[in-house]
Amino acid sequence: MAQLVYDKNGRLLFTQEMKKEYTILFPTMLPVHFGLMARIIEAEGYKVEMLTTNHRNIVDEGLKYVHNDTCYPALLVIGQLIDAVKSGKYDPHKVALLITQTGGGCRASNYIHLLRKALVKAGLEFVPVISLNMSGLEHNPGFKLGLGTLRKAVFAMMYGDIIVQTANQVRPYEVNPGQTDQTIEKVEEHLLAEMSQGKGLSFKSMVANFDHIVAAFKAIPVAGEPKVRVGVVGEIYIKYSPLGNNNLEQFLLSEGAEPVVPGLTDFIIFKIYNREVDVNIYGGKWVKKKACQVLKGYVEKCQRAMIAAMKKGGFRAPGTFEDLRQLIKGYLGEGNKMGEGWLLTAEMLELIHSGTPNIVCTQPFGCLPNHIVGKGMIRKLKDDYPYSNIVAIDYDPGATKINQENRIKLMLANARGLAKQEAERQQEEVREAAHA
Ligand code: SF4
Repeated sequence: MAQLVYDKNGRLLFTQEMKKEYTILFPTMLPVHFGLMARIIEAEGYKVEMLTTNHRNIVDEGLKYVHNDTCYPALLVIGQLIDAVKSGKYDPHKVALLITQTGGGCRASNYIHLLRKALVKAGLEFVPVISLNMSGLEHNPGFKLGLGTLRKAVFAMMYGDIIVQTANQVRPYEVNPGQTDQTIEKVEEHLLAEMSQGKGLSFKSMVANFDHIVAAFKAIPVAGEPKVRVGVVGEIYIKYSPLGNNNLEQFLLSEGAEPVVPGLTDFIIFKIYNREVDVNIYGGKWVKKKACQVLKGYVEKCQRAMIAAMKKGGFRAPGTFEDLRQLIKGYLGEGNKMGEGWLLTAEMLELIHSGTPNIVCTQPFGCLPNHIVGKGMIRKLKDDYPYSNIVAIDYDPGATKINQENRIKLMLANARGLAKQEAERQQEEVREAAHA
């Protein structure tokens, strides 16, 4: 059995020995992106498992070990991890928990401390916790991801985005139920096989893979009239995680709508750009700003290639990060960057501008930043775009699914009413033109 080793501050470390024996568990947020990430980390010799559990006990475990004033995503993530350790599926003395730290000012940087506190309270203080961050916040001798792996991770995020965004445009119309999900699996296998051979990791091969992915989804037979499109925005965890949003995308599909979920790439660029903004507003090292500009420039170049591939393949493509930055002018300043910051409002603006004025704005309990840039901006957007149809849905341990779904159904009824009115208005225009 691996020995427990602590650093000088008393933090339990994940050691080299543990790398051989332990299974690293981590919570799901974006099933496709994180699934790819898990396989990449696995290829480095770690045993990893992405938790896809989704049941009430997760909330109850969270409530037991996290203060109920804490934001709901923290409660769910910690509840899911502790539920897994106690599930009997794993030897609690042979598991480690992996959690991300954004390194920003929001609570997402501090989940890790809440998790360690919760483990002590649950009598599981011998379970090591690993931080995954890009800010050099914590180190572990047994968990090191080299530059090669980080590069693969960035590619996985880009591939995850184009897979999800093209799949979402096909799934509601697929002739053979389940074919879109099967295609996702096939595409993932192709990408992972390439990466394991050291291929698919240059800009040129990324562009080729974008084309490959688009072609795979384009080949799926589709049928039917266009459905009402519904945008999903909000705090990052609740927006993406089926556990956090009570399977929102699935619900929208079952109601005959087409979900439109903005990708992760803009959030990544946003996080890099914020460091540049810090230097602009508060001062700081010129070299830090320059390094961020170079990194941001590279991710933006990849984003442009992704957009071009989607357009070439006949899919609706999102705008660039720069487009979002332009859209937000006159609404929020760039210093507004806690949580999703100005990006959340910009995503709503982009959806409205691109013909998706029906939006579900997911709001977790206890999340001050996103209440300001989400719910807090809806009035202003409604004033500027009277046809926008935005509903803010609260997610918390006591909120009932039925209540959330009824509010979304009401929004959908409005959306269908607005679409009917618009169709009648267009017909009227055609009639008038014919009589003129
Ligand atoms: S953005 Fe909101 S929900 Fe997410 S960590 Fe921060 S406070 Fe919590």
